[in-house]
Amino acid sequence: MEFDPSNISILIADDELHGRELLGALLEPHGYQLLFAEDGVKALAQARRHVPDLVLLDVMMPGKDGFEVCQELRSDSELAEVPIMLLTALEDRDSRLRGIESGADDFITKPYDRRELAARVRMVCRLNRFRLLVAEREKLAGVIDHAPDGIVIVDETLTVRMANPSAREMFRTSGDITLEGLSFNELLTGESASRCENQLRDLTPSGSEVVAVESDSMRFNGEEFPLEILARRFAWNGLNALQLNLRDVSEKRRLEDNLLRAQRLQGLGSLAGGIAHDLNNILTPVLVGAGALKGLQTSPDAVSLVENMELAAHRGSGLVRQILTFARGSEGQSEYVTLKYVLGEVCRLIEKALPTSITLRTELAANTPQVYGDPTQIHQLLMNLCVNARDAMPEGGSLNIAIESVSLDSSSIQDIPDGRVGNWVRVSVSDTGTGMSPEVLKRLGEPFFTTKPEGRGTGLGFATVRTILERHQGFMKIESEPGVGSCFHLFLPPALGDKTDAEPIAEQLPTGQGELILVADNEAAMREIAQSTLSCYNYRVISVGDGADAVAEFCRHPDEVSLALCDWRLPFLEGPAVIRALRKLNPDLPCCLTTADERSPDDHQVCEDLAAPLLIKPFTTAQMLQLLDQKLHS
Ligand code: ADP
Ligand code: MG
Repeated sequence: MEFDPSNISILIADDELHGRELLGALLEPHGYQLLFAEDGVKALAQARRHVPDLVLLDVMMPGKDGFEVCQELRSDSELAEVPIMLLTALEDRDSRLRGIESGADDFITKPYDRRELAARVRMVCRLNRFRLLVAEREKLAGVIDHAPDGIVIVDETLTVRMANPSAREMFRTSGDITLEGLSFNELLTGESASRCENQLRDLTPSGSEVVAVESDSMRFNGEEFPLEILARRFAWNGLNALQLNLRDVSEKRRLEDNLLRAQRLQGLGSLAGGIAHDLNNILTPVLVGAGALKGLQTSPDAVSLVENMELAAHRGSGLVRQILTFARGSEGQSEYVTLKYVLGEVCRLIEKALPTSITLRTELAANTPQVYGDPTQIHQLLMNLCVNARDAMPEGGSLNIAIESVSLDSSSIQDIPDGRVGNWVRVSVSDTGTGMSPEVLKRLGEPFFTTKPEGRGTGLGFATVRTILERHQGFMKIESEPGVGSCFHLFLPPALGDKTDAEPIAEQLPTGQGELILVADNEAAMREIAQSTLSCYNYRVISVGDGADAVAEFCRHPDEVSLALCDWRLPFLEGPAVIRALRKLNPDLPCCLTTADERSPDDHQVCEDLAAPLLIKPFTTAQMLQLLDQKLHS
């Protein structure tokens, strides 16, 4: 590299003006940038402001002398490596020794020899420039070593000359295998390889042009992956080289594919919504007709044909429902669901679809609480799990479904993702099938993830299970061992007011002090349950079925009602409007809202403005009692 003195700065520290001028006059003609300091303290400040390439330091200075300045420079991390030359008298041996101890690199003796001074300064500055270059190079090497991109440098023949750790990791090199020395095109596979190679060879040597090329590639463990390459020509160690930044874009591709599929599905969802009604109309006569035909047939062959038709029609309508739930969201209404009835229906259907090599068993614990939700969706959820279990047992096995209520404490929820402490209804579907590898388990529930051959699996089953479970505010624990089988435990919140649930926890929950609660809900079942539950916990209740009645009823007992619990969707007057009306009559009345639908952020703002907390259905007895207690007693 060219040595250019105009880039080099020299700091001259001498308290005597004459000394500074003399050195200045000697060095100036060589073209260096010169900086001056009148004492030690100023020299240090100057060096910290602008790191010089060389410090010429007089030993005798007031305040801080040359040795002290030297020591301080050496102990400053930014300045420790800056070359220092002490200015001493020739005969001053002591000063020289102290200078070495203080960290000086060289000495210039007074009186100065013009040529010697020039030569020494030049040498020290050159060495310093070299040191800076090496340091710079190390920093750059660190950047390349830690770059997330694979960085590879190839020569004109596309032979790899250098590869960083990310590139080695990308290709999974191990043992004796190194990328260096390989021809880069050996790393490319598939149809795009030769096109990619030509693009790289044709790249013009302008230096600034960067082209992006793509190809399939293969790791040394045989795994294929899509590779994105950003290429740039540059001169490297005298070679006309190419810098290639490599990126494994598998993840990006996967996300793009999923996005495309999700968009297709969205389209399919709205389409399916439109035709679902028609399709059900079409399927109904098929189903009814098949049922009737079965009775008329005498030959077993004909009966089985008709049964197959019936099954196919059932599957058709099931499929419509599946797509609807997953793509469009909830269709149905929430209600109190007795799981064993739903399970009974599922078993009746699935039994037909199970080969004789699979035995189906159910275990239903007595007195399991109801849950609050959409029976059609719960049906669908169980169906999906059963069908998966069937598919996992091509050689036969047993499918077991159990329902019971369980209580989870903080230690038992540790290995359950999203698990919450409390009482739950647990539905466990287990099989003795193939089980799942950790990889499959990890991707389970990802829409369209299937290990089944095309046409057999949609990869939507489990995603739907998850969606339905989340909508019912439940969670799940999966146990699976390859070769042994799988077990899916679903935890659903017990419905509010269910007696089997309410009794055991009665003493822990906050109770009322005989306050009168106004309950407004258009669902009769909801009113009944609120009535019975709240009376159990020492509240009195008046319940009404619409918004107008709520206001009227309040006017009848303005001084007695302690709290209003209103559903959002009420006939005549919606929940928030009812609360506003009641507050006109009693500005301090505590109020709460309930809702079965999702609410927008604006709606939540309304609740906040009204100081009326929102209880989302299905809620538990505990949630309701705690909220009432908080509004009334704190
Ligand atoms: P599909 O059944 O259409 O493949 P799912 O979302 O229902 O889609 O399931 C995804 C994948 O999860 C299945 O392809 C299968 O590999 C695995 N899987 C699901 N349930 C089980 C099970 N009970 N036993 C073994 N593997 C299962
Ligand atoms: Mg499935």
